[in-house]
Amino acid sequence: MKLLEDKIKEVGRVLPGDVLKVDAFLNHQVDPKLMAEMGKEFARLFKDDNITRIVTVESSGIAPAVMAGLYMDVPVVFARKHKSLTLTDDVYTSEVYSYTKQTSNQISIDKRFIQPNDRLLIIDDFLANGQAVQGLLDVAKQANVSVNGIGIVIEKSYQKGHDLIEKTGIHLESLARIKSLDNDKVTFVED
Ligand code: 5GP
Repeated sequence: MKLLEDKIKEVGRVLPGDVLKVDAFLNHQVDPKLMAEMGKEFARLFKDDNITRIVTVESSGIAPAVMAGLYMDVPVVFARKHKSLTLTDDVYTSEVYSYTKQTSNQISIDKRFIQPNDRLLIIDDFLANGQAVQGLLDVAKQANVSVNGIGIVIEKSYQKGHDLIEKTGIHLESLARIKSLDNDKVTFVED
């Protein structure tokens, strides 16, 4: 998606440890118009997948997921990362290792917010080694529902996650695909 790639070129910063910082429009400050365009693009890309619900992980997945939900006209659920007193025992949980924080988090989704015949679309801000997506796939498995799409805002295509998801055969779409962050320079995969 050219608009997104232009924005990454304009304000993205490469940090040590293969991390791309995009806190100017996605991970801290949020650009609502860009989020809306991304939501429309996800809706277009997954229009034939009969999605009934979007799931993501707090907090950075929420903005793009909500916009996709708006244009697809489906509810959006975000997995919580911390144990909450307001969450009951009726939750699906999974353990997710965080790429940027290098710690494990338990993610949880209340069982009421996934229904038996759901066809889920997983949305996340980044795809690196695929741990976050795998946590959500695990939750879907526990809920016994199908995952019919995975939508990623920024994929670092040279890391493990892409191949891992490709092997599952699930429809994967990434709005920006990064080939390398070498020498502090963002290079995109050419289509
Ligand atoms: P994975 O679980 O695929 O290894 O990593 C995905 C998660 O780690 C995303 O939800 C995102 O929060 C974080 N992440 C991974 N790589 C990056 C990166 O280069 N920049 C930022 N800002 N977050 C990242």
